[in-house]
Amino acid sequence: MVQSFIVVGAGIIGAATALQLAKAGHAVKIVQAGGVDATSTSFGWINASFFLNDDHHHLRRAGIAAWHRVLQNVPASVDWQGCLCWDMSPDDMEATFTQLRAFDYPVEMIAKSQIQKREPALNAAPDQALFFPAEGAASPADLSRHFLTAAQALGAKLIRNTYVSALKTKNGRVIGIETPQGDMLADQVVIAAGTGTAAIVGSIGCDIPLVPRPAYILRTAPQKKVLHHILATPQGEIRQEPSGQILMPVVPGHQSDDAEELMQTPTEAADAAIKRLHAICGGLENADWSEVTRAERPMPRDGFPIVGPIADGAYVGVLHSGITLGPIIAELAAKDITGRLDNADAAMLAPYRPDRFLHP
Ligand SMILES: Cc1cc2nc3c(=O)[nH]c(=O)nc-3n(C[C@H](O)[C@H](O)[C@H](O)COP(=O)(O)OP(=O)(O)OC[C@H]3O[C@@H](n4cnc5c(N)ncnc54)[C@H](O)[C@@H]3O)c2cc1C
Repeated sequence: MVQSFIVVGAGIIGAATALQLAKAGHAVKIVQAGGVDATSTSFGWINASFFLNDDHHHLRRAGIAAWHRVLQNVPASVDWQGCLCWDMSPDDMEATFTQLRAFDYPVEMIAKSQIQKREPALNAAPDQALFFPAEGAASPADLSRHFLTAAQALGAKLIRNTYVSALKTKNGRVIGIETPQGDMLADQVVIAAGTGTAAIVGSIGCDIPLVPRPAYILRTAPQKKVLHHILATPQGEIRQEPSGQILMPVVPGHQSDDAEELMQTPTEAADAAIKRLHAICGGLENADWSEVTRAERPMPRDGFPIVGPIADGAYVGVLHSGITLGPIIAELAAKDITGRLDNADAAMLAPYRPDRFLHP
């Protein structure tokens, strides 16, 4: 049966979920407030080498597989260049290698000479690094747009610059959304509004706890090609876009960074980070940062995705590592909402249900 959906949010989670719902033949409207989102300001690294527990690793790995599926229909720019990682102690590196090997995840421990061969521009290659050949990076700037266009080609409609102030209910069921311009009705509402999610679901008394995780990320002007992989170094994560621009979150280890406030101005933070970039990488001549963006990462309180129904007619999808996980969460959520989840899918979603906060 064809159902009508309103998807609130047009970052990667909303856009990718809208695509899956449209693909399943449903009538979809995507409503987006505008402003800076996390997706377009992300670092874009698609990986399963960072994870919080075994289930989380398996979900992220399924995320990489889902990316390969979705790229058959969505012309996003993803470079499967692999990652070289040495932002950990030798003991931790050994332990990570052993654990990932046990998971049968593609990983190699490589020595200095091989690192130098792979990345000749490094000023001082480490003695050893982990190499994750299956990892890649998506160009974040126009990422959502590619998913939205694919959804629109299947009939989805995009409503831009429209703020959702509340969910609309009738007889205890969510029947649509409220905006300053009036209400819109649908059979089901999917809330994928990133850091805006908590306020929207709060309108029906639902507590989805997100913690503040601000971040700065910088870009240089286009440079000649110097980097061939994503690099996770003790001085920071860096990678070079196909445009030649180098991207770098200004905090090393940004995936696990848990600062709640930014203590530097954007220029102080970017100046310090660009010095670290030059320390890592030669061949950049006088490259300076050309853009620094303050972003807010949607981060559930326990660090894990929150995906599932929150009320009759309302479903939520909010998470960090949404670039890695967007396509798999979208596939699973669309199946879940439309009653097509099989046992394996249900097991994959089980640890991430909103119930852990709603009915602890
Ligand atoms: C600096 C940085 C680096 C990152 N690096 C990585 C990485 O390397 N790998 C990785 O996997 N993840 C990374 N992330 C995380 C990832 O970017 C996010 O998890 C992901 O983009 C979240 O997508 P989203 O669609 O949930 O939210 P967003 O992209 O923030 O989109 C939210 C959408 O909701 C809309 N919205 C919000 N409130 C309302 C409202 N009231 N009414 C209507 N619309 C509303 C917004 O307009 C927007 O369209 C990074 C994030 C940041 C900020």
